[in-house]
Amino acid sequence: MPLMEPYRIKVVEPIPVTTRAVREKALERAGHNLFNLSADEVTIDLLTDSGTGALSAAQQAAAALGDESYAGARSYHRFRAVVDELTAYPHVFPVHQGRAAERILFSALLEPGQITISNTHFDTTRANSELAGCEARDLPCPEMKDLESDEPFKGNIDLVALEAALTGPDADRIGIVIMTITNNGGGGQPVSMANLEAASRLCRRHAVPFFLDAGRFAENAWLVTQREPGYENSSPREVAKAAFRLADGCLASLKKDGIANIGGLLALRDDDVARRCELILTATEGFRTYGGLAGRDLEMLAQGLIEVTDPHYLRARADAAAHLAELVNTAGVGTVRPPGIHGVYLNAGRLLPHIPPERFPGHALACALYIEGGIRSVELGSLFLGEVDSDGRLRTPAPYELLRLALPRRVYTQSHLEYVAEIVAAVAKRAESVPGYRLVTVPPILRHFNATLEPITPLT
Ligand SMILES: *Cc1c(COP(=O)(O)O)cnc(C)c1O
Repeated sequence: MPLMEPYRIKVVEPIPVTTRAVREKALERAGHNLFNLSADEVTIDLLTDSGTGALSAAQQAAAALGDESYAGARSYHRFRAVVDELTAYPHVFPVHQGRAAERILFSALLEPGQITISNTHFDTTRANSELAGCEARDLPCPEMKDLESDEPFKGNIDLVALEAALTGPDADRIGIVIMTITNNGGGGQPVSMANLEAASRLCRRHAVPFFLDAGRFAENAWLVTQREPGYENSSPREVAKAAFRLADGCLASLKKDGIANIGGLLALRDDDVARRCELILTATEGFRTYGGLAGRDLEMLAQGLIEVTDPHYLRARADAAAHLAELVNTAGVGTVRPPGIHGVYLNAGRLLPHIPPERFPGHALACALYIEGGIRSVELGSLFLGEVDSDGRLRTPAPYELLRLALPRRVYTQSHLEYVAEIVAAVAKRAESVPGYRLVTVPPILRHFNATLEPITPLT
């Protein structure tokens, strides 16, 4: 079937169209950090797919039915029924976003000195593990190292390393194993059901809690139906349900596959842990039937969690990502392969070989795409992930210099993505003229949100 969005547009929002001179000035004022731009200065905003999705007519209608009672609201019961059908976990807590679920679960479950293991911790998951006094260890599969290979499940956990950890000298310190689906820190690559099953078995054998970080559970399920033998005839919802059944519980940012602007979920089987979670939830988020959300949010989430496993929607979203990847590949720009769903990751290190890691090629490409066409994206390279001294000098570079073009759900059309590809192609044509960057102010934490930089010609 030719590419087509399986929805039509009922409400539109104009997007700012600016001139190069205005964008240059805006970038300068923003300290050459795209997080500091005002959204009104951005034409196509591909900073994140989190909380940026478009609501459906049915979600808007559901919002109007929101029951704002403090306790036991009708909207909670609707949310609960949808989550029960999907996950079948006996304890379900709404929270305001994913990181609240992380903090609550880790406070209830973990002790200082323990180890959390993941295929790759998302950055807030790692931060919450460390805030709980734990050590976060990533065990990505070896296939992930080759950015350009077409291995179908590069988001998998390394099962050999997991078994070694569960039987090694630190085994009794392992407090939880968390599988991030899809693997956001790992290029948005999916995790296979075979890998989830094997990891689940290992954890059960060694009596370690096994959880899903399930923000993109539907996108992972779609890629399973497309790539994993034995699942060709399953629906994405069936695959998602099977994945939840393999775990002791899940954390999720519902700002992704809840297709809503705010919301999160913590759900689990263990009664004692759930009791402790409920205490922390009530003290820090809200009563167990709203967890920091309004009734109308719970309604929109319930409806979003139904819509998100629609195979037509998921196919269109996957096709859109693949189409954008193909267009930029044709323009000579390498991407992480195979294309995932929630974003396209450009290989900036390869495109800008004249910019060494200490001059942040991913960031340089992000700034160039903004100047050229008003596109906002995010660097995933040495600026975000490298080790930097307090004077701004790069001590250890990141393993890759990538730029992520995240795709908000149901927001941009095929012609918007073709515009993005044309801007990428225009920058690729003058790649050697793109300047590197030097850090000017270096905050001690959350560097990529708050740093300021300045362009520096490659030869100085
Ligand atoms: C977004 C995200 C989180 C954090 O969720 P928030 O809703 O942003 O707090 C955690 N894990 C993964 C994999 C995510 O993508």
